[in-house]
Amino acid sequence: MDKVRVVLLFGPQSSGKGTQGMMLEKSLGIPHISTGRLLRVKMEKDLDFREKFNSFVLRGDLVPDQYIYEVLFDRLQEADCQKGFILDGYPRNLSQIKAMEKFLGDYFGSYELSVVNLLIPFESIVQRVSGRFVCSDCGQTYNIYLYPPKVEGVCDSCAGVLEKRADDQPEIIKNRYEIFNQQTVPVLDYYQNLDNVKIFNIDGEQTIDEIFKNIMAKLND
Ligand code: AMP
Repeated sequence: MDKVRVVLLFGPQSSGKGTQGMMLEKSLGIPHISTGRLLRVKMEKDLDFREKFNSFVLRGDLVPDQYIYEVLFDRLQEADCQKGFILDGYPRNLSQIKAMEKFLGDYFGSYELSVVNLLIPFESIVQRVSGRFVCSDCGQTYNIYLYPPKVEGVCDSCAGVLEKRADDQPEIIKNRYEIFNQQTVPVLDYYQNLDNVKIFNIDGEQTIDEIFKNIMAKLND
């Protein structure tokens, strides 16, 4: 049996993980799974969960690890993930790496892991986040500067209403960036020291198509 393929999309907020994740899902035939999106969907359905954890998201803080494990590891046991998956927004700290290694080893046995590292400076993040809109139905992301929808305010894919994310506000953006540097950058350092993990550094300021081509070339190499 082929090894399960795990692709980690790494990069700060608005570096293009969501957009590239959706494109990679179509090309690689494995699902794109964003823990931020899993949390947003769960919070819409489960009001207790929302009451407990929405304040973390609204401050730009990380939701406590054990609740992330619950939503993510349940999702990874669904049928579409059995050949592999693309993770966006996970792992965000060293404990999350350890929990994932244990889950993947226990559940899938052997797997092959690659990290796609999208590089983008803070100034670009601020500009991109200010133009970001998300479909309230299917979660597809748009950006009025980079890839606007065909009709303003309407999702191209499902005709859902586009809205701003509550955590895409200037003060929260700064906090999220600090947390990324303090807690999430060590994740990349960890993988850099492992021989069996491939890391692909990609300039996140190229066009969407160029970034996608570069990622595919590296993944297929
Ligand atoms: P994202 O959609 O990846 O920007 O995530 C939005 C928010 O969801 C983050 O700012 C966190 O509050 C929360 N979140 C998403 N993924 C994780 C994770 N792996 N660990 C903890 N919190 C997370």
